[in-house]
Amino acid sequence: MTENRSEISQLGEFGLIDRIHEKFTLLNPSSLTGIGDDAAVIDAGDEGILVTTDMLVEGIHFDLSYTPIHHLGYKAVAANVSDIAAMNGKAEQITVSIALSNRFSVEAVDALYAGIKAACENYKVDLVGGDTTSSPSGLVISITAVGRAKKEDIAYRSGAQVNDIICVTGDLGAAFTGLQVLAREKEVFLTNPEMQPDLEKYEYLVGRQLKPEARTDIVFDLAEAGVKPTAMIDISDGLASELLHLSKNSGVGIRVYEDKVPIDHLAFETAIEFKLDPITCALNGGEDYELLFTIAKTDQEKIKNHPDIHFIGYIHERKAENVLITKQGTAVPLRAQGWDHFK
Ligand code: ADP
Ligand code: MG
Repeated sequence: MTENRSEISQLGEFGLIDRIHEKFTLLNPSSLTGIGDDAAVIDAGDEGILVTTDMLVEGIHFDLSYTPIHHLGYKAVAANVSDIAAMNGKAEQITVSIALSNRFSVEAVDALYAGIKAACENYKVDLVGGDTTSSPSGLVISITAVGRAKKEDIAYRSGAQVNDIICVTGDLGAAFTGLQVLAREKEVFLTNPEMQPDLEKYEYLVGRQLKPEARTDIVFDLAEAGVKPTAMIDISDGLASELLHLSKNSGVGIRVYEDKVPIDHLAFETAIEFKLDPITCALNGGEDYELLFTIAKTDQEKIKNHPDIHFIGYIHERKAENVLITKQGTAVPLRAQGWDHFK
């Protein structure tokens, strides 16, 4: 029997999600927002309940030869808390599902959950359930987070307005350069197991890769300053990819300036050492878990002295014109390379 077969790699991750999305319509009035934002929004009176889920697969998202398993547990929680923060909400519960093979010991599971617990305590979220099953070889960890926010406070990817200021928190590209360092040290170790990894110099970068923090502090600081972001998204797939999501969902154009994109000096130097362009690492390296958001111009004054919020550009009306203005002053189209697991 012959049948049509299309390769997933031709659609890519986002194409595949769009294809799934097209086949479903929301049946319940309580499902306020479904597929397409950092979290779904469910009606709960004055509040919205926020729901997000994320799966990490060994060999795709992490490599246990250089990832301490407790850090993996922490990071898996942080990634979900980050998606709730990106809705301008607060995570309160998680469920954790794991699939593991007999390669893993009880002690390894203890260490994974020690990391999960540390994150639960840090972000004040409760582990309320999950599922445990076996897998043929690797580890799979899937976390769902539930959070809440007042309806009027929820920030969607679709709210950016013309003339809004584009803001990012922290610095970008460090997690990706940290990953390059870890991969190189692994190679060195595989070739010569006597060699000790030389990681001290790169501690900040490796830390950004292995133990990222969700920016729940920014959600708090914005509320304190009386600023509601018009749109928000977390930067898990790289700045360029997330800027294009904002553009598409808000129907507006993006203009960002290369010299405004925050890059840590060590990430900059390390990118050069690996013959990578630092701005490309910031635009297309993933896993920074910083927040990207837009604010009304009139709100800029209220957060202009925040040490960890950077103004990198503005929103304009031509939605097909998403550009980066280079240091030389040339406008280049923003392109998302992001992560594509199906290639
Ligand atoms: P993020 O990077 O913020 O985790 P994703 O890019 O993974 O978000 O997902 C984008 C949107 O698509 C989200 O609303 C997510 O819930 C939804 N989504 C992803 N995969 C699936 C799937 N297999 N079925 C239904 N919805 C999905
Ligand atoms: Mg997200």
